[in-house]
Amino acid sequence: MTSKVRYSYLAEQFADPTAFLDAIKAVVQRGDFTLGEAVGRFEARFAALIGSRHAIGVNSGTDAIKLALKAVGIGPGDEVVTAANTFIATVGAIAETGATPVLVDCESDRYVMDVKATEAAVTPRTKAIVPVQLTGDMVDMAAIMDIAQRHGLAVVEDSCQAIHAAQNGRPAGTWGAAGTFSLHPLKNLNVWGDGGVIVTDDDDLAARLRLLRNHGLAHRDEVVTLGCNSRLDTIQAAIGLLMVDDVPASVDGRIANAARYDAALADIGQIRLPRRRADTRQNYHLYMVFAEERDALVRHLNDQGISAKIHYPVPLYRQPGLAHLGYAAGDFPHSDAQAASVLSLPIDPYLTPAMQDTAVAAIRQFYGRG
Ligand SMILES: *Cc1c(COP(=O)(O)O)cnc(C)c1O
Repeated sequence: MTSKVRYSYLAEQFADPTAFLDAIKAVVQRGDFTLGEAVGRFEARFAALIGSRHAIGVNSGTDAIKLALKAVGIGPGDEVVTAANTFIATVGAIAETGATPVLVDCESDRYVMDVKATEAAVTPRTKAIVPVQLTGDMVDMAAIMDIAQRHGLAVVEDSCQAIHAAQNGRPAGTWGAAGTFSLHPLKNLNVWGDGGVIVTDDDDLAARLRLLRNHGLAHRDEVVTLGCNSRLDTIQAAIGLLMVDDVPASVDGRIANAARYDAALADIGQIRLPRRRADTRQNYHLYMVFAEERDALVRHLNDQGISAKIHYPVPLYRQPGLAHLGYAAGDFPHSDAQAASVLSLPIDPYLTPAMQDTAVAAIRQFYGRG
């Protein structure tokens, strides 16, 4: 059955790829495939978008987190506090620095890290907090910065899902020492492969990050520190340049779609919306609700050609690859409860009101409210 309400909008977004292919052709003609001129231009536009002094392109959001942590001095023996329900990349990046990830539960009525649990997880070995702006909502960042200041901790924001979100007018990614973004095809600003960006206002940190992403090379013949190869590909920068200025409008489109869903779902008792903070501009990377009989509802929707997804059915802390961290089922009850009830509906700016109506009607039908 062809899908009535699709999840992926990539076919619509790139239906006419002419401008993108022309941009790639220009890179090929210049031949500047690594750290080419499009990388610098993209970084400048990205920094302007976020309102940060520097933007450093790297090869993924995962590397953005890893390199930002290394640049602020995180390594073996350190503990880094982050979310028990995040995407694997956050915890993988922390582990790659040699530090130990320490997990905390989310809030009871939102998907983001609970700040009381965060403070309770701080030990004498804690060196950093990685707040994760999951779904494009935001952790209570004033509280996180207060905890960090009192305990002398670095803050590296995982804002990979939160481009152009903000809290009290301050953009996601600009709260701590550095903010990290992903340009993955499934993220709001999506290039044609992997890519990531680190933003910071700190000149020294920016200089260190530029070295770390390129083998520690000051120039061709001088290695000043040991780094790695994590350059943002010039072709991906050229693709990103064609979309970076559209981010505010596309986030506005997602916000409008979210408001339509919120209004249409409000009277269905079996659907609970996450708490919306009035001080936060969510970018609705994901539109998630808590649903009763979630698995049956997802089957009902998918059977009718309406895509609905679960982010994520098993909270990260219970994945076998993290068993060595020593957590056990039940350690993070809010993450467990949410994993059993969350449901994501398509929310992209290409989604039509008709598609939203179709999805909402099917949800009503499922709960006998047709
Ligand atoms: C996508 C994502 C990442 C990693 O980004 P990649 O570019 O895929 O490496 C990190 N953290 C979160 C929360 C993400 O959603």
